[in-house]
Amino acid sequence: MSSDPLQGPLQYLKGVGPRRAADLQRVGLATVEDLLYRFPTRYEDRGHFQTIASLRPGVAAAVAGEVLSCGIRPTRRPRFKIFEMLVRDRTGSLRAIWFNQPFLKDVFRPHQRVILFGKLELSSHGLQMQGPQYEILEGEEGGDADVEPDGASDAAQTVHTGRIVPIYEKTGHLTAKMQRALVYQALQTLPPQLPDPLPAVVRRRQGLVERRDALEQVHFPAAGVPVAELNAFRSPAHRRLIFEEFFLFQLGILLRKRRADSERKGRAVVVTDATREAVRRVLPFRLTGDQKTAIREIVTDMQRPQPMNRLLQGDVGSGKTIVALMAALVAMENGLQAAFMAPTEILAEQHFFNIRRLLEPSRFRLTLLTGGTPAKKRREILAELSGGSLQMVIGTHALVQEDVAFRELGLAIIDEQHRFGVLQRATLRAKGLHPDVLVMTATPIPRTLALTTYGDLDVSVMREMPPGRQPISTTARPETRRDEVYAFVRREIEQGRQAYVVYPLVEESAKVDLRAATEMADHLSNDVFPEFRVALLHGRMKQDAKDRVMGGFVRGEFDILVSTTVIEVGVDVPNATVLVVEHAERFGLSQLHQLRGRVGRGAHRSYCVLLYQAPLSEQGRDRLKALTESSDGFEIAERDLQLRGPGDFFGTRQSGMPTLRVGDLLRDHALMEEARREAVAALDDPQQAPELAGLVNSTWERRFGLVGIG
Ligand code: ADP
Ligand code: MG
Repeated sequence: MSSDPLQGPLQYLKGVGPRRAADLQRVGLATVEDLLYRFPTRYEDRGHFQTIASLRPGVAAAVAGEVLSCGIRPTRRPRFKIFEMLVRDRTGSLRAIWFNQPFLKDVFRPHQRVILFGKLELSSHGLQMQGPQYEILEGEEGGDADVEPDGASDAAQTVHTGRIVPIYEKTGHLTAKMQRALVYQALQTLPPQLPDPLPAVVRRRQGLVERRDALEQVHFPAAGVPVAELNAFRSPAHRRLIFEEFFLFQLGILLRKRRADSERKGRAVVVTDATREAVRRVLPFRLTGDQKTAIREIVTDMQRPQPMNRLLQGDVGSGKTIVALMAALVAMENGLQAAFMAPTEILAEQHFFNIRRLLEPSRFRLTLLTGGTPAKKRREILAELSGGSLQMVIGTHALVQEDVAFRELGLAIIDEQHRFGVLQRATLRAKGLHPDVLVMTATPIPRTLALTTYGDLDVSVMREMPPGRQPISTTARPETRRDEVYAFVRREIEQGRQAYVVYPLVEESAKVDLRAATEMADHLSNDVFPEFRVALLHGRMKQDAKDRVMGGFVRGEFDILVSTTVIEVGVDVPNATVLVVEHAERFGLSQLHQLRGRVGRGAHRSYCVLLYQAPLSEQGRDRLKALTESSDGFEIAERDLQLRGPGDFFGTRQSGMPTLRVGDLLRDHALMEEARREAVAALDDPQQAPELAGLVNSTWERRFGLVGIG
């Protein structure tokens, strides 16, 4: 490790004392590698400025200079104002004017360094630019002279101007200019050769430049590199470094998968006629083709000696629960236990009640274990699980607690994966001797991400919906048309249907929103729908209160359920046909799609009304539009990804999304696929594989912020 010059601390750089080092560390920059793998966000060609003395009227030009004076000049015409600025470079000065843009007085001030771009004209005051485009060299005046490279102004010239200049995003105390100076210095201290994680054959085959050159070029491109190419992250240097990151990432994913494939589970299941008969007895309906295929794939995995690691992807309502239950039955018929983990208590309970009903004709015993299970009951359950008299447990995170042990856990099912971390997946898995693991998600993973996040899982996809589903008609309405929406809800309830009214609950303002939901429930029940039964459900209610409300709604004892997003996932009330989402503009696209999946579960036509507060941002409008136009979860997920970017798609880092420093899953997905292919080939080569495994072990955690592969 110490032989890698990129792992040196930043203190070795001039101008970085303990204080600054601590500042840098706070923004995630501890080593030279951290610094050099923080790329410019864009580039500016400052190599082609014209001197003011050389300017001629009639042509457009870029000049760089210092603001001498600026201000608003009144004119004889009332309300017509001119903002005027005098800019100087070492050859002369130039006037720039803007009409009717008084706000510019807050933008410019004397001594700023600015770039102006515009056409020159001759006026009575001499040469001037009218309404030029401008750029202020951000945070560039003074303040951080202590990190200037040696040789003061001359060397500094070549770093900050007179070339294609890298522009970095400011973070913490680190300004663009400071990073530029630090990077420049760091590059100078690097030895001429750097250890290269990319095997030479891969580099040759992919036509990639050397690592040292790439690092230098990505920060300080040579003159003549097209700036547009740099700004699109498409330069050879970018390509090389992004590929390197993806290659390492794929190596780790593949090694993890290979390691899993080399494990042997405690016992593989055997499928006999008796198993098939047992399964058939429990089935409440005819399976869709996709459900059959998924079950076949799952059971095939379960019959293998290696543990299953499978992701079942299916849009909301596609019927994943029954597929999971069939797999559980196969395990139980083989004398193995099954655990089913859901993200919320409400959902765990609903699964429990459904599955218990379905399992009635079978001899298997199951139980529910959540955070709300009383201590005494919990002790009994734990004893029965470890003794083996319970065959199945359904629950929440409570299942992964340390003292939960099984006699022989054969299958771990994890519902709605994106709510759980990779860690929990690993913890539940550790409760058995390499049990089969089935992860289910209703958030269709766009193809671009499937390769990464779930690159170590086999995937089954269900796109088909169970028969008889009616499409959900979705409309967006401004809040001002609330009365119409209520009238519509009333008509539906009068026909015997039920309705949800959902409130957003965002972390920071959880309390306020909770009050809003509570007040709304009162208002709806007292003022708007006095003739109907309205109930309230939110995450802070006591368990038994939640049970009463949800159970009551399922049984039709309430007409309207006002709730926070706790109903977001999985809950199944076929008679509910209307979903009203308050403040729809505050939700993410995929989340709205999930919410919408609460209706359209029965034979009646269903409706989703998105109430929003006008005016909508452009993004907000796009989101609502995507939702009213499509009901295909896969299509919506792709849109969501485009609108939000992969970082936000899953919300948290916990979700197993890699922290990519230089690559972008959307922008660079073609490179990711290329890297995947190369990583497979490299690992298949017995000459290279051991060294690459060592490389992954020493870099994976550091570079991707993910749990190690071991
Ligand atoms: P999700 O994939 O969102 O978890 P569920 O498993 O909750 O979906 O199923 C949604 C609804 O569809 C449930 O009421 C379930 O009983 C029903 N369902 C599932 N599969 C079928 C099928 N093949 N035929 C009829 N109804 C089905
Ligand atoms: Mg579900």
